[in-house]
Amino acid sequence: MRTAEIRQRWLDYFASKDHEIVPSVPLISPDPSILFTIAGMVPFIPYILGTQDAPWPRAANVQKCIRTNDIENVGRTTRHGTFFQMMGNFSFGDYFKEGAIELAWELLTSPQDAGGFGLDPDRLWVTTWDQDAEALDALLRVGVDRRHVVRLPRQENFWDTGQPGPAGPCAEWHYDRGPEFGPEAEGGTVDPGGDRYLEIWNLVFDQFVRGEGRGKDYPLLGELEQKAIDTGAGLERIAYLLQGKNNLYETDEVFPVIAQAQEITGRRYGAVTEDDVRLRVVGDHVRSSLMLIGDGVTPSNEGRGYVLRRLVRRTVRSMRLLGVEEPVMPHLLPVSRDAMAVSYPEVARDFERIAQVAYGEEEAFLRTLTAGTTIFEGAVAKAKSTPAPVLTGEQAFALHDTYGFPIDLTLEMASEHGVDVDEQAFRTLMQAQRDRARADALAKKTGHADTSAYQQLHQALSAEQGAPVRFAGYTDA
Ligand code: ATP
Ligand code: MG
Ligand code: MG
Ligand code: MG
Repeated sequence: MRTAEIRQRWLDYFASKDHEIVPSVPLISPDPSILFTIAGMVPFIPYILGTQDAPWPRAANVQKCIRTNDIENVGRTTRHGTFFQMMGNFSFGDYFKEGAIELAWELLTSPQDAGGFGLDPDRLWVTTWDQDAEALDALLRVGVDRRHVVRLPRQENFWDTGQPGPAGPCAEWHYDRGPEFGPEAEGGTVDPGGDRYLEIWNLVFDQFVRGEGRGKDYPLLGELEQKAIDTGAGLERIAYLLQGKNNLYETDEVFPVIAQAQEITGRRYGAVTEDDVRLRVVGDHVRSSLMLIGDGVTPSNEGRGYVLRRLVRRTVRSMRLLGVEEPVMPHLLPVSRDAMAVSYPEVARDFERIAQVAYGEEEAFLRTLTAGTTIFEGAVAKAKSTPAPVLTGEQAFALHDTYGFPIDLTLEMASEHGVDVDEQAFRTLMQAQRDRARADALAKKTGHADTSAYQQLHQALSAEQGAPVRFAGYTDA
């Protein structure tokens, strides 16, 4: 099943369950305190927090997302894109926990010819909050295997905004990819963030009013008057399962770029681990660049534009490390456009503009690289004339700061010349620069609308994304 078909299946399923289908909002977050739309719930924040009445009791969407906190995971895990699509269903004071669990189970396990995803029920595992008896009941009632319900403390499986107000437990669906990817979780402390248990869908039950406290250590003061359901399922993750692939980079919306990169580099995907990581980074970053420029982001040295700049530079750098020094974007971007235009026709309509921005950024970076390479080679020649050749932290920092030479490129090129780099000293100089920038930003900060609730929500989401979840087995027998 193609990614675009899975997406449509999601929308059709929830439309058939009386959900209003809401289009994706742009990647540029509708809320000014968050750079990017990082989750499907972002456009619904006021309804979830209860600060505004929702126009519909139930809604569903497939939301374009960018998560920069996952950039280092790309290509190394099986499941993280910088761009991805989060499929969501939402209830604002309508159905609650039981309804959300019934819907999720039906869609995941119904046969494909009956409109479902046809996942094997025996391979589904769910993590819940250990005090959530209702969720446990509902899960057992729909047919989840009791041994596959993992009950975790609040620390691990509880949503809040970082301040007094709405809060509630989560139930996260995982798919067991099988024993070839690691040991069985039952009774153990297996991290489902590993390769075997793939997190596919998070159900958030917005249920309680919480009081003051640090971290997850706060009292629950009572139940919310209007409870909400907020869910997010990873379209690319479900696609990688349904397409029988090993990771999300091998799905139909990403792999064509990798195939094209193989073509131009002459490296075969699946032969050398390091090359594979680079090819996956290229597949991911080209797509993210396409979608970001499509939504109006342009390269710059700060904020959103800097994220785009990094994505383009990492693409170019990865392709260089795969042996190609000529411009690559003109070969890769049209391939990504063709893969994405099925669901997002605007990237085809607007391609001329998108290409101009991407190609221009690549050219600028290539000029930078050319200038930097001359400086780099001078520094290497000098280092080589000494008994223990090392590039100093200052040299690496100047390459980075003045010539836009990323440290990994300096490291890689230096090692090709048999020269070490004083990376520690480089990092110290980088930190000092960051501290200066932070001080500047603080000094510049002026009063504006109070967006602290959103900032805290964002922090809470980011913290949640980073937190390892442990399978502790079902212990409440
Ligand atoms: P993980 O623990 O795997 O990083 P998460 O807990 O950070 O995922 P949530 O914030 O719960 O993810 O987001 C809801 C769903 O969105 C996840 O269950 C997953 O299916 C999907 N998702 C999250 N981050 C990504 C990503 N970087 N790329 C692709 N899908 C993602
Ligand atoms: Mg999650
Ligand atoms: Mg997680
Ligand atoms: Mg995460």
